[in-house]
Amino acid sequence: MTAKTVTILGATGSIGKSTIDLISRNPGRFEVIALTAHTDVQGLAAAARRVGARHAVIGSEALYSELREALDGSGTQPAAGPDAVVEVAGSGADLTMAAIVGCAGLAPVMAALKSGRTVALANKESLVSAGGVMTSAAAESGAMILPVDSEHNAIFQCFDHARPHGIRRIVLTASGGPFRTRSLEEMRQVTPAEAVAHPNWSMGAKTSVDSATLMNKGLELIEAFHLFRLGADAFDAVIHPQSVVHSLVEYVDGSVLAQLGAPDMRIPIAYTLAYPERMETPCERLDLVRTGRLDFEAPDLERFPALGLAKAILAEGGAKPAILNAANEIAVAAFLDSRIGFLDIATIASEALSVYDPPAPRSVDEVFEVDARAREISSDIVGKYLH
Ligand code: NAD
Ligand code: MG
Repeated sequence: MTAKTVTILGATGSIGKSTIDLISRNPGRFEVIALTAHTDVQGLAAAARRVGARHAVIGSEALYSELREALDGSGTQPAAGPDAVVEVAGSGADLTMAAIVGCAGLAPVMAALKSGRTVALANKESLVSAGGVMTSAAAESGAMILPVDSEHNAIFQCFDHARPHGIRRIVLTASGGPFRTRSLEEMRQVTPAEAVAHPNWSMGAKTSVDSATLMNKGLELIEAFHLFRLGADAFDAVIHPQSVVHSLVEYVDGSVLAQLGAPDMRIPIAYTLAYPERMETPCERLDLVRTGRLDFEAPDLERFPALGLAKAILAEGGAKPAILNAANEIAVAAFLDSRIGFLDIATIASEALSVYDPPAPRSVDEVFEVDARAREISSDIVGKYLH
């Protein structure tokens, strides 16, 4: 078997590290073309040495000489700057793992899609902001998008891609996050440290806060809408605190298919790395007897308004998802800096959506314009909620 060539965008993050872990457990199966990171030079250089990457790219230009030193004698070529990240993203690896967090991942993801190969997509924010633009680029180049997000990976595995007309409904599961049983009053007081401590999954800070507000599930409904082209009403979310059932696909005859597994991102990542084959992982095996019970409940949209916001704009589309995403990124950063309260995140996103209503972006440049303006507007709104 010839080695599959792989590039990892966001190699120093939670998804990036899990991907490196799986690649280093399978010597000879993968050949790493390039790794990228934003500012973590030492983490990037260590990962590049571990997998013998041909290139390592640091997003922050000022860190070039530090990276060159850290890679001395390794055989890995250093590079720096956002353009260099985009360049390696488009260099045509068999598989590009898109694991940058936020809309910052959009330009590299677009470059990877244009190369016409396979993109394993973790970076949901890019698809939320630029759904139509990204799926058109993939259709044009023939690129395949394999979803890494656990819910979408589950749906992908259960979805009859040849006969989508037989599918009636898609139900995404959500753990409910760390505040599932807290009252609104209690949620007003939560700290960034409490919000990033997720009960089941280990993730980067931004995605952890999104899971706590349920904005993550809202963004995921929009992500699912672009990946699995059914009508907007076909997508729903249910709370499932054990995170064992990763999502469900309901067929017109009443059959429901679901994918189950331990809550470990290495399972969906391995699915995308090995696709269309399967590969071993060191992940815990599902033991249903020990799990004992699987609970499901309806999400409370009053305590978690972010989910309602995303649901409301799912059918509308246009520029709204890009505005929701940009406002959320700004508000989450402000919350993580302890500048605003937890409940202000959804309020700020809602205000941004109500004051800014541009036409639907038709190109990636137009998405960037909407994203930039939405960030300015949201930063101003954040100013009203500072404490
Ligand atoms: P993380 O914060 O742990 O890592 C983010 C990575 O992106 C890092 O390597 C960082 O260097 C890079 N990065 C950040 N800003 C950048 C910029 N401006 N330019 C270039 N690179 C930049 O995030 P994560 O938890 O690994 O999540 C990555 C993506 O995967 C997110 O879109 C997230 O929503 C999605 N996702 C994560 C999980 C999870 O379990 N962690 C699950 C599903 C989906
Ligand atoms: Mg998910």
